[in-house]
Amino acid sequence: MGLADWVATVFGDGRREIYECRECGANLASEEDDCPYCGPTDVVQIELPG
Ligand SMILES: [Zn+2]
Repeated sequence: MGLADWVATVFGDGRREIYECRECGANLASEEDDCPYCGPTDVVQIELPG
């Protein structure tokens, strides 16, 4: 996933918090989701300003 895709994902649905896998950086639906690639792993929560 490139940066453009990441931006589209973040801003496309209006959410102000995103979650991603600490291992591979995959976007997750919520902090409770396991990474589809890594399985149970640490999830990074990112809060967007504004
Ligand atoms: Zn992962």
